Amino acid sequence: VIWLGQPEHSVITTCAYCGVGCGFKAEMKGTEVVRMVPWKDGQANEGHSCVKGRFAWGYATHKDRITTPMIRKKITDPWQEVSWDEAIGYAASEFKRIQAQHGRDSIGGITSSRCTNEETYLVQKLVRAAFGNNNVDTCARVCHSPTGYGLGQTYGTSAGTQTFKSVEKADVIMVIGANPTDGHPVFASRLKKRLREGAQLIVADPRRIDIVKSPHVKAAHHLQLKPGTNVALISALAHVVVTEGLVDEAYVAERCDTKSFNDWRNFVSRPENSPEAMEAVTGVPAGEVRAAARLYAKKGSNAAIYYGLGVTEHSQGSTMVMGIANLAMATGNVGREGVGVNPLRGQNNVQGSCDMGSFPHELPGYRHISDSTVRSSFEAAWGVELQPEPGLRIPNMFDAALTGSFKGLYCEGEDIVQSDPNTQHVAAALMAMECIVVQDIFLNETAKYAHVFLPGSSFLEKDGTFTNAERRISRVRKVMPPLPGLADWEVTVKLANALGYPMHYEHPSQIMDEIAALTPTFRGVSFDKIEKLGSVQWPCNDDAPDGTPTMHIDHFVRGKGRFMITKYVPTDEKVTRKFPLLLTTGRILSQYNVGAQTRRTPNVEWHSEDLLEIHPHDAEDRGIKSGDWVGIQSRAGDTVLRAVITDRVAPGVVYTTFHFPESGANVITTDNSDWATNCPEYKVTAVQVMPVMQP
Ligand code: SF4
Repeated sequence: VIWLGQPEHSVITTCAYCGVGCGFKAEMKGTEVVRMVPWKDGQANEGHSCVKGRFAWGYATHKDRITTPMIRKKITDPWQEVSWDEAIGYAASEFKRIQAQHGRDSIGGITSSRCTNEETYLVQKLVRAAFGNNNVDTCARVCHSPTGYGLGQTYGTSAGTQTFKSVEKADVIMVIGANPTDGHPVFASRLKKRLREGAQLIVADPRRIDIVKSPHVKAAHHLQLKPGTNVALISALAHVVVTEGLVDEAYVAERCDTKSFNDWRNFVSRPENSPEAMEAVTGVPAGEVRAAARLYAKKGSNAAIYYGLGVTEHSQGSTMVMGIANLAMATGNVGREGVGVNPLRGQNNVQGSCDMGSFPHELPGYRHISDSTVRSSFEAAWGVELQPEPGLRIPNMFDAALTGSFKGLYCEGEDIVQSDPNTQHVAAALMAMECIVVQDIFLNETAKYAHVFLPGSSFLEKDGTFTNAERRISRVRKVMPPLPGLADWEVTVKLANALGYPMHYEHPSQIMDEIAALTPTFRGVSFDKIEKLGSVQWPCNDDAPDGTPTMHIDHFVRGKGRFMITKYVPTDEKVTRKFPLLLTTGRILSQYNVGAQTRRTPNVEWHSEDLLEIHPHDAEDRGIKSGDWVGIQSRAGDTVLRAVITDRVAPGVVYTTFHFPESGANVITTDNSDWATNCPEYKVTAVQVMPVMQP
């Protein structure tokens, strides 16, 4: 720890990394941050933090920050520094020119879970009111969009059912496709504490993650399934619940839709869904699945499910979310403390970016754009006519660019070139566009294809709110002036005005007031209320003026909970003689997503490159030793990494992280995607791995 001097004052704010949303005290000397201290009254973290929030904030003043707007006519031209007015004027004139030449729907916008709620709300408002279309999407497309679909279909809204604290009342905890130790460290500590107190753990993951066996913690069952077989596993678990009399019949009769339950019961009880039949698909011994199902469904105990991107980032991501929701309903494990279905959101504001209407089919509060009553309330407030048809999702924007109908993009806070799968496809789409406006704190990989660069502001430079994975809305507070002179929300406002659509706000609190006025689940939210309560969990309105820690207590948001049929369909991404291994991906504790922030902090001393984990048998077959350089080839592309030999992965499976652009993890991932939401299938890529010379 570097001693940066005695603080003079402090400001309470919220971590800008993962979906736990820890509260921090930024201790300041003048306008400089001296250190970040976890806030003891922070309701999500209660005084705890991890190595990201505590130490990795220095990127905010890193020398790579771009603080002056820039433009260039062609991406081969050098950047030219210009004033804010010139940059925004140029972007607006290009967007207008493109729409005049190619039509209203030829441009769109992408927002990010790095942005505050208020910023995200403004981006979707800009697209809908100033661009005049619904071509707005968010990076949640590539992570938790299946959560939106799956929980929406079954429970009626896209949100985790519990507070993090609720885990303290769980008797059985099932973690599916998530690695809390690395991805959500402060929640992982809470979870491990509960396990040390005696709760039982079931882990479903292709990799032996830390919580399967670590000091003082050991999973009762590790269901080490083959990548891509989640739905087969959840069907097998459900089969045991239904055929062994483990359904909570009273709960289902009172709380759930009877017809959908009967259809589901008939479906999962079929012999082809038994653990014995599914063993050949998942690779998990039937006896282990039966024992895990009995433990999860044990009468009289509280069982909670926590899941992550290992559930959603699959061709059947939405199906798996519905499978999880079915299992929890059938066993009566929704609607009280200690139970529930809890998506562990990767980024700080994934929940918020979805809540704010940044999907092409939904207005804020998860209301479909085709609903004329909802649309007319926004039309009255915004003074425009809204289009009733959903716009383009991110992958559709790329496809439309390649066919020539999509020509302009406003991209705020999201590095689509490094984050999205099949980098070659993304790059080709961007090259086919005529005007790309990137708003970011660094010249990221996407900026290489941009014509206008608008410097963004870090979380330390603006006011607003983030909503964490437990629906908790917390304040982000400005601790220093924005380095480029404008905060991100002010840039969007200027762009809207330059396009001829008037926007005017003095402060982000006014944006939240507008959100609250237009969104029933947010009606009681205000900066003043958050100030008073510390944070607030939506729904927050007249029915729940102080917010809602546990959802679906008396009834589901949609009324009766609905069971959905979840038939296992194998992914198209199959092993072949040419590509005999399955690659899956994940995160490491000290780094964060594409690493734009953490790579520019001392955290690189813990982890400075992405490595390929390979099982000893597969390594021996190929003559690979730990530390060797290996080439990884898929049908999408190839890259080179150093190998680590470990039995954390099973034979036939390899694993890497995706924090460093030079590792090219997404050069090899394919553009397979979830059938319902187009969330990419990052977690299953058939590859070959062979030794190569050092690149
Ligand atoms: Fe930040 Fe997440 Fe770590 Fe908390 S657990 S300090 S929110 S990265």
